[in-house]
Amino acid sequence: MIKENLKYVEEKIAKACERVGRNKDEVTLIAVSKTKPIEDIREAMEYGMTHFGENKVQEIVDKYQSISEPLNWHMIGHLQRNKVKYIVDKVVFIHSVDSLRLAEQINEEAKKKNTVVKILIEVNIAGEESKFGVKPEETLSLVEQIAPLSNVKIMGLMTIAPYVSNAEENRIHFQKLRKLNIDIKSKNIDNVCMDVLSMGMTGDYEVAVEEGATMVRVGTGIFGERNYAV
Ligand SMILES: *Cc1c(COP(=O)(O)O)cnc(C)c1O
Repeated sequence: MIKENLKYVEEKIAKACERVGRNKDEVTLIAVSKTKPIEDIREAMEYGMTHFGENKVQEIVDKYQSISEPLNWHMIGHLQRNKVKYIVDKVVFIHSVDSLRLAEQINEEAKKKNTVVKILIEVNIAGEESKFGVKPEETLSLVEQIAPLSNVKIMGLMTIAPYVSNAEENRIHFQKLRKLNIDIKSKNIDNVCMDVLSMGMTGDYEVAVEEGATMVRVGTGIFGERNYAV
């Protein structure tokens, strides 16, 4: 079932690209495997997936150690500063940076491991109280503060759009994030590359792709419903 789902999602992404004249190679599909077992990841790997998203540090570490093949792990969940050290050398992207203090911690740990960590700034684009992320109007200033850090590299923006039943309702938020990205890019800040827009999940990734997403994070649509009770 996972392979069929992957094929379906890839086709939807390709069609969304076609509708707006984009090349489908501009969009990276991240398979969000949180709470799912290694066998599920293996099945996605057999299909050809190499990008996986997780939202818990312990789960990334466990899965990283259980799979010897090189994969691209994306940390997409809220990250506590005291746990940064466990993942800086294991992930290709941290999508959820929303404070200078967190970026500084990543920078310190990356230095120790002699690496540069690619990060995205998480923006609370719809201003939801329950969500992490920096306010849109404070994003540029945060980017400017993080930019000088030598061992982190800002690659773009990420958002978790509101949970809606009609994906069209999120179009405005994706448009806003894209515009914010362009505004910041136009400042040509040293050590900042605004090429990545991580937006769109199972319910709304097609709209996100139409609005310029370069990374979509799809969990349920690939692996099925998650069971948090176990
Ligand atoms: C769980 C999660 C996803 C995937 O959600 P689905 O609706 O299952 O596709 C995407 N992004 C983040 C940050 C998540 O935590």
